[in-house]
Amino acid sequence: MSGKRRDTRLIHGGRRPEWTQGIVNPPVWRASTILFDSVEAMHEAYPPEDGRLHYGRNGTPTQWALAEALTELEPGAAGTKLFPSGSAAVAAALLSVLSAGDELLMVDSAYAPTRAFCEDVLKRMGIATRYYDPLVGEGIAELFTERTKAVFLESPGSLTFEVQDVPAICAAARARGDLSIIACTKYVVGHADAMLGSVTAAPGVWRRLERTTRALGQHVGPDDAYLATRGLRTLGVRLRQHQESGLKVAGWLQEQPQVARVLHPALPSCPGHEHWQRDFRGASGLFSFVLNGGGEADRARLVDGLELFGIGYSWGGYESLALPVDPERNRSATRWQAEGPLVRLHIGLEDSDDLIEDLARGLAGYGAAG
Ligand SMILES: *Cc1c(COP(=O)(O)O)cnc(C)c1O
Repeated sequence: MSGKRRDTRLIHGGRRPEWTQGIVNPPVWRASTILFDSVEAMHEAYPPEDGRLHYGRNGTPTQWALAEALTELEPGAAGTKLFPSGSAAVAAALLSVLSAGDELLMVDSAYAPTRAFCEDVLKRMGIATRYYDPLVGEGIAELFTERTKAVFLESPGSLTFEVQDVPAICAAARARGDLSIIACTKYVVGHADAMLGSVTAAPGVWRRLERTTRALGQHVGPDDAYLATRGLRTLGVRLRQHQESGLKVAGWLQEQPQVARVLHPALPSCPGHEHWQRDFRGASGLFSFVLNGGGEADRARLVDGLELFGIGYSWGGYESLALPVDPERNRSATRWQAEGPLVRLHIGLEDSDDLIEDLARGLAGYGAAG
């Protein structure tokens, strides 16, 4: 599949006939114990690599198909490991490359539980974390010390959507072994009904990732792997619709007097937009907007009053969400300052005109009752 375009790889990845037996979707294989024909066959199944049944924790064709499909999305990658959540994937990726005495450079706009992992777990293991400005670019080089062993990027940033200069940071870091992490819980699963994470590794770090993952005992159940693989098949078409509706709602919000700023990577008002234009092929349905004045109570009234937007954390499903978010609580290297409170929206697959009408009703009363 490596010569094919992305949409084609999304459809065909991982569907090996020896795994599917001709069934279109790789079936759900449930297993803990694998029975061997002989002692010799048992020895032959070791070491346990994907494609070789050995023990349930090493997966079955259901998990291998998903892992292979994800690997095919990253040209040059050696393989993918699956995890029971995006957060577990972040933890395993960091543990694969860091040891006591090392230092990690973490983007200041990172997802809050990722920060918590650094402060709670890595710190106890003698691994120090320093936070950097998401817009640091090639200036990252000035932060390196002899102890710096990893740089963590998240672009666009959680909640505030700064788009990082990924090529400049990778060049300065002389990156040797990339790890690419996906919170598959979001758009890959796509229907808000399973949690899963993945780490795809370049050849230089693949063995370390594999060994660390095995030592941590990480495993994903076949039902969840099945759901993620099924979600992957429609990811291309879903993302295009999320992008189109998201841009329409974001453009409309930008013109409302109650809105100070819209933080959407595809709009010039988003910090790092020029990197998005250069490096990205599209946008998702996730962005934030800053309200023009008002306080927490006004914001809560606005979010509570929306009819079509659910209030909840994990975006990427087919449904729209609105969430009050406070980035200043999760920063140390930079300060978050804004004209008013922030709301993060996930634009789902509803008709975008209905979503705009819902937001218009909510914004009409913004601040008035307070
Ligand atoms: C959602 C998310 C995670 C965690 O994924 P879970 O599956 O919810 O554990 C980690 N990092 C980022 C940037 C995310 O958006």
